[in-house]
Amino acid sequence: MGMPVNVARVQETQVGHRMNTVGRPSGPNAVSWDYETTLWTIERPADGDEPLRRKVRCGTCEQSLAIVVYSVADTRRRQARFRGWTWFCAFLLLAGLAGIIYFGVTASMSSAPGLTSLASVFVTFPALWVVGLRTEAEAGITHRGSSGVSVAKHVVTPIEPPPASPFGTA
Ligand SMILES: [Zn+2]
Repeated sequence: MGMPVNVARVQETQVGHRMNTVGRPSGPNAVSWDYETTLWTIERPADGDEPLRRKVRCGTCEQSLAIVVYSVADTRRRQARFRGWTWFCAFLLLAGLAGIIYFGVTASMSSAPGLTSLASVFVTFPALWVVGLRTEAEAGITHRGSSGVSVAKHVVTPIEPPPASPFGTA
């Protein structure tokens, strides 16, 4: 798992417009998607304030995207919640694997607990994958159609905040 997205009150954010409808092979098991990006500076609400509704325009197709921007504190809470779900899925996956090993060794794999362990692994492995990706994508900026998992037509992602000025913020 990678690091969560950097979060700052004022943040340069890129709106990416996906140019290809079919992924371009870029390795043995990888496809890449070409995005044309438009930059927007997004200011988050103050901590404790309601999320803000904003409009950003995609510079490629001129479509206006209704986005919701969360405060830094809310974004951290959202990241922590998704991280919690990731750990929860990881725990269930390990419990399922332990069950498979245990019931496999005791030769009662077809017993109810054995089958439950097997089913648990089949469900939690993809769940962990999806939740893990979602956790990494969580940046406190959402828009309709952004699940953070699928390859969407538009992606709205903050890019690293600029380094803090040695003279402090204005
Ligand atoms: Zn677009």
